[in-house]
Amino acid sequence: MRAAVLHETGQDKLDVLDDVEAVGFGPGKVRIRVRATGLCHSDVSAMNGVLPQPAPFVPGHEGAGEVVDVGDGVTNVRQGDRVLVCWLPACGTCPACRRGQTELCLAGFMNAGTPNFKRPGGDVFGFAGTGTFTEEVVVDAACAVPIPDDVPFDIAALIGCGVTTGLGAALNTADVAAGSSVAVIGCGGVGIAVLQGARLKGAAHIVAVDPVESRREAALRFGASEAVAPDALTDAAQRATAGEGFDYVFEVVGTSATTRAAYEATRRGGTLCVVGAGAVDDHVRFNMFELFFDEKRILPSLYGGGDVLRSYERAVALWRAGRVDLAGMITHRVRLAEINEALEQMRTGTALRTCVEI
Ligand SMILES: [Zn+2]
Ligand SMILES: [Zn+2]
Repeated sequence: MRAAVLHETGQDKLDVLDDVEAVGFGPGKVRIRVRATGLCHSDVSAMNGVLPQPAPFVPGHEGAGEVVDVGDGVTNVRQGDRVLVCWLPACGTCPACRRGQTELCLAGFMNAGTPNFKRPGGDVFGFAGTGTFTEEVVVDAACAVPIPDDVPFDIAALIGCGVTTGLGAALNTADVAAGSSVAVIGCGGVGIAVLQGARLKGAAHIVAVDPVESRREAALRFGASEAVAPDALTDAAQRATAGEGFDYVFEVVGTSATTRAAYEATRRGGTLCVVGAGAVDDHVRFNMFELFFDEKRILPSLYGGGDVLRSYERAVALWRAGRVDLAGMITHRVRLAEINEALEQMRTGTALRTCVEI
């Protein structure tokens, strides 16, 4: 079958091959025919080595499709079910799961060192234990989450990562207060989902910050009060908050530089919510005086910072009610053979979300 493979970390192009096989099917496993997969910035970060991932590997972790086969003991899905792929499945029994923080369950990562695919040349891993830039993938049953019939595959795919991450940051982690001032630094797909979440919570003023003009324009369409380039953030804070700083600043890039800028743009006592996925060797500095004296709350948000399955259901409900615009976040569509064009669009920042139809 066909899949897009990165041979070595650091390469910037994927090789679309037709000699790949999904492996590992058996008890407790589900085989999924992937129909749609979003291109998430984390895929690029895994390709360039910012995020740890053994190679060669098939990127993609934001997918949806149909169940074609289930192994012994699988009870949550059946053949023919429509599912989205959860890259961070909850075991339900570990201390984190029992506390309701299923986004912190590490059980799914125990499989991350096991290849999901093979080729005549050898083993191939799947990104984050999934790998959805492929026609078929075999995952743990907990990674296959049924979706209602009215949710299209492309929308379900987005809910599998970017939408859940962004909405959850605003709704779960930061729990934005009505009437507040908000800045969102980084307005790709996740940032736009943060923005929509802040608007849902009744934020009074939302400043979108992004170096790419097309993304600033998109942010305005999705309800930002104003959209500025990064070097205009201080001026925007001056205008919007009389220089006090924002009640909430969301960092949706994943670098120390943007996190530091976000910290400075947060008002004393306000909330800095860190959503971006950064690197293990990128260190951000705070001095001990500002840390205690300014009492800014630093809240990291992993995968929406809440119960993952409930976050999916909430995203579907909000989408169905027309309270969030998920279709509008898909700015580009490509076939698997055109995946390198999609990567280029992501690098240049012209896409919010690209849907790969398979
Ligand atoms: Zn668990
Ligand atoms: Zn993602």
